[in-house]
Amino acid sequence: MSTPNEWNNLVPIQNRLESPNKNARRPSTTLPTHVVIHVTGTDSLPSVRKTFLASNSVSAHYLITKEGELFQFVPDASRAWHAGIDSNTRSLYKKGQEKWQCYLKYFNWYKGYPKDAIYVDGDLKPVWDKTEAAFVARADGLPWPEYSYFNERWPTEDLPINFDTDPDPNNYAIGIETLDFGSKKHDSTVYTDKMYKTLEHLVTDISKKYSIPMIKGRIVGHEDVNPIGRFGWDPAPGFDWSVVTK
Ligand SMILES: [Zn+2]
Repeated sequence: MSTPNEWNNLVPIQNRLESPNKNARRPSTTLPTHVVIHVTGTDSLPSVRKTFLASNSVSAHYLITKEGELFQFVPDASRAWHAGIDSNTRSLYKKGQEKWQCYLKYFNWYKGYPKDAIYVDGDLKPVWDKTEAAFVARADGLPWPEYSYFNERWPTEDLPINFDTDPDPNNYAIGIETLDFGSKKHDSTVYTDKMYKTLEHLVTDISKKYSIPMIKGRIVGHEDVNPIGRFGWDPAPGFDWSVVTK
């Protein structure tokens, strides 16, 4: 029986690269209960490796390339930094779905906000300079259509985590990154068969080790546990959930 302190045997020794971006789960005996799947948003392995190995940065437990190669950066026992939810976003979730779905997180690189969008700070007050924004609202105040995929996946009574009481996915999850830009549509050049094969193998292994059932609700996406922060692109609707959930 392997303990979560060890590196995973499925990962070749030369692909075990210890990230400084981790800490103990709280309490330290906490075993993972969920798996959070991500897409990196880049197809550059050197750039992700550099980010994960830099200090004061981010990390995930595992990374899978399009060729199906598996890397590990954080042992399962540790809390990797892949799905944190900032305090402004946590307060927004507490206001309820009808309210939070009126906001998207502001990213300075994102080109998809409409021309008449309203940029607001962490207290939801409009800002003059959008580079100071935390969130973005529609001019008409309605919910963003970007959440339609989330709402399809998660009918209201069935949310993936309880945003009010358990707002730290990093504490109870294992994070797996797939190395690519992601896609809204099924695309075998983005989410490749080789990637899925390794992912299925890895998730099955994790599921057996920690008794995490391979069901929707336990094997989730970053966009599921932090929809405001990812609004349907991490890992995006093109990802085939049937590979890892039965
Ligand atoms: Zn992510």
